[in-house]
Amino acid sequence: MDVERKLEILADAAKYDASCASSGTEKRDSRDGKGLGSTAPGMGICHSYAPDGRCISLLKILLTNACNYDCLYCVNRTSSNVPRARFTVDEVVKLTLDFYRRNYIEGLFLSSGIIRSANYTMEQVVRVARSLREDHHFRGYIHLKTIPEADDALITEAGKYADRLSINIELPEATSLAKLAPEKDVRAIRRTMGRLRLKLDEANEARRAPSSRQARPPRFAPAGQSTQMIVGADAATDQSILNTSANLYGSYNLKRVYYSAFSPIPDASRHLPLKPPPLVREHRLYQADWLMRFYGFAADEIVDEANTMLALEIDPKLAWALRHRERFPLDVNRASREELLRVPGFGRKAVDRIIATRRHAALRAADLSRLHIPRSKALPFIVLSDHRPAPQLLDSARLIERFRPRAEQLGFGF
Ligand code: SF4
Repeated sequence: MDVERKLEILADAAKYDASCASSGTEKRDSRDGKGLGSTAPGMGICHSYAPDGRCISLLKILLTNACNYDCLYCVNRTSSNVPRARFTVDEVVKLTLDFYRRNYIEGLFLSSGIIRSANYTMEQVVRVARSLREDHHFRGYIHLKTIPEADDALITEAGKYADRLSINIELPEATSLAKLAPEKDVRAIRRTMGRLRLKLDEANEARRAPSSRQARPPRFAPAGQSTQMIVGADAATDQSILNTSANLYGSYNLKRVYYSAFSPIPDASRHLPLKPPPLVREHRLYQADWLMRFYGFAADEIVDEANTMLALEIDPKLAWALRHRERFPLDVNRASREELLRVPGFGRKAVDRIIATRRHAALRAADLSRLHIPRSKALPFIVLSDHRPAPQLLDSARLIERFRPRAEQLGFGF
């Protein structure tokens, strides 16, 4: 099989993995004439948007889509009737360098089905990264998928070469994982996430320690670890998903949890839904995740026993504000940063600008547009020097109607 056909199969097989945004790593380039590549932004093959908003491009492939495991939700499972392919280590190295030189990519995202054993597979993945870094002095971004059952020494070596490591938790509930991916061991996944956290903490501490004549601290995945959860392959609620995410962030200091809407696969098991979940559900989960990481919300404020699923028609912050109207209207000229972050339509940058502006002058309604705040969304919840919402508006059961997308008549299709 030629490399082009392998690329077609193995890039397609990797498309289900969403956890490939490259962010937060150290800055490297090759302007000194040594090495190849950089971690500077660029355009290329697989576009992802990092949390800081920049667009990054990665060659996103599997080393092989053959796999010993039979995870029912996965197109690469052993019982799947798809064409199989396998790259050699040298082929992946050459492809990465060729694509980089042609300015198609700024890095590599490499995952693999599990062949022979966890250690054998991890070793192949590590060999690619080692060759790129040591033989070719590649300074671009490398994200390696980690096999949880692999030996510690291999994981340590992976962290030496990779910017980011990830282990997919796959499903939020252990019972679903046992049913849909019986060979996966949730304890091994969590144990390895814990090992990664320890190594990341050690590397960070060593980096922060006062410089001395000691050798530089060992490098270990400076962009941290991430994971992915599949949404809609099982009956897990958004409450269960967000509680799992909160636990993962807290226990393992993950940089990101990625949510990937389940997409039905050929010859699927009867245990799987026939239809994918609405894509907007994935979007709402990302918004809720953002609220937990950057806006001071706890998971149980966003979803609870009475609201186990996120509303699809409005964003989670607005949904929270509508459930907690007793906290509004909020005086923008006096409120704390934490309170301002909870106002619908107020982003983090807008809050910073509000705080900077109100030091000199009280904010008025006209200032909202200048601060890029959506007026119609924010005004019912705030007090400004020339604006106070009518009390009956905030109390009205119909307030939510203002925010629902307008119904549109469908066309006739001709
Ligand atoms: S181990 Fe990974 S590649 Fe193999 S079937 Fe499971 S999810 Fe798919």
